[in-house]
Amino acid sequence: MKIIAATFRKADGDGKARRTMLGVLIRRLNPNRILDLNPLARAAVPIRRVRIGLRHHRTLALLAAAAMALLLWSGCAVEVKDTSRTFTAVVIDAGHGGRDSGATSRYAGLEKDAALDVAMRLRPRLEAAGFRTVLTRSDDTFIPLDERARISNREKNVIFVSIHFNYSRRADIRGTEVYYHSRCSAEIARNIISQVCAIPGTSSRGIHSANFRVLKKNQYPAVLVECGYLTNPYEGRRCRSGAFRDQVAEAIARGIVIQRYGGGKMVAAE
Ligand SMILES: [Zn+2]
Repeated sequence: MKIIAATFRKADGDGKARRTMLGVLIRRLNPNRILDLNPLARAAVPIRRVRIGLRHHRTLALLAAAAMALLLWSGCAVEVKDTSRTFTAVVIDAGHGGRDSGATSRYAGLEKDAALDVAMRLRPRLEAAGFRTVLTRSDDTFIPLDERARISNREKNVIFVSIHFNYSRRADIRGTEVYYHSRCSAEIARNIISQVCAIPGTSSRGIHSANFRVLKKNQYPAVLVECGYLTNPYEGRRCRSGAFRDQVAEAIARGIVIQRYGGGKMVAAE
């Protein structure tokens, strides 16, 4: 077993590549198996590594204690009320805003604008389907991640849907991803991604569990939709168009309606 201390930069999601943190990984003898003890490190890329020899027992003990503390801390998760089949309202969270522009690329505008636009197109569709809606932001305002979760936690019988667009250093990467944290959110993630990926020309990169703050701090089922890669030439240009954002909003609304009522009730707003 080797212990590796690493400084991490968060790769993407609800904070983009801005935050750094110390993560601790315990690598077992099998190099393919890495025990990730830092919940925030799961979506992170190591940028600097320091190898520590086994003879440095004191350092080893300290790191092991830190790892255990992180493990315990990550276990103190918010208790989630499973409203995934009963919800009457949807908290729509347009990612980023204000001084936090999110991702951008030469093909697309700013992520914060695209996310808000999809959120505003999603809202009337959900209301037409009978849901009450709550927006974490309805203009270009910076809202801290914890506040977004607090807005959701103040509500009753809701689910939380966060809208984002993605970024990669590799221009060839494209596709839709949906993230969730609590187990009862996975079905919502599946329903949304299957509807979004039914849009012609859209590909799926699957659903994934993640420790994004807005998901982890949420007391309700919560998903984060990465509607496409702004950094992919095809998808970036598409994400810029109102017509595509309209299709995405409708697909997300359909996924939510199917989650709540099954496939029989379609979204009325066009
Ligand atoms: Zn984002």
